[in-house]
Amino acid sequence: MSDCIFCKIVSGEIGASKVYEDKYTLAFLDINPVNKGHVLVIPKKHFDTVLDMPEDEGVALAKASVKVGKAVRKATNCEGINLLHNIGKAAGQLVFHAHVHLIPRFSHDSMRLGWDRKQYANSAEQEEFRKKVSEAVGK
Ligand code: AMP
Ligand code: ZN
Repeated sequence: MSDCIFCKIVSGEIGASKVYEDKYTLAFLDINPVNKGHVLVIPKKHFDTVLDMPEDEGVALAKASVKVGKAVRKATNCEGINLLHNIGKAAGQLVFHAHVHLIPRFSHDSMRLGWDRKQYANSAEQEEFRKKVSEAVGK
């Protein structure tokens, strides 16, 4: 994808603070970190989101994310990490080249996920969603 900023990082057309690379993936510092040491792990091939990736590419991305996640923890002495994919505009995705965020977290940092939890109206409604999702997995 010629107009994709992360493809340009893979090709070397634009620079990045690289921290890890293997056959399938590349990891570099996020240019606007939520906390210092915030890393993005991306597939070298272009996919709009992680849900568009074939299984072997997804496995390679997951493996690299675990490896680099351990390194981020060691390097930053963080107390936790948010491993996040933003999939789609509604979920906050701005760059449409699949990527995993590894965000080092500290008890009193300023990041807020702001989850507003809902409840199912009743067990029948919960069962309706369980069925819908499990049937979709099977397809
Ligand atoms: P998302 O909202 O999940 O699509 O996040 C995209 C991330 O890419 C943001 O956290 C940006 O700060 C980061 N980003 C955008 N351009 C660059 C770049 N050239 N180098 C490093 N990180 C970038
Ligand atoms: Zn791309």
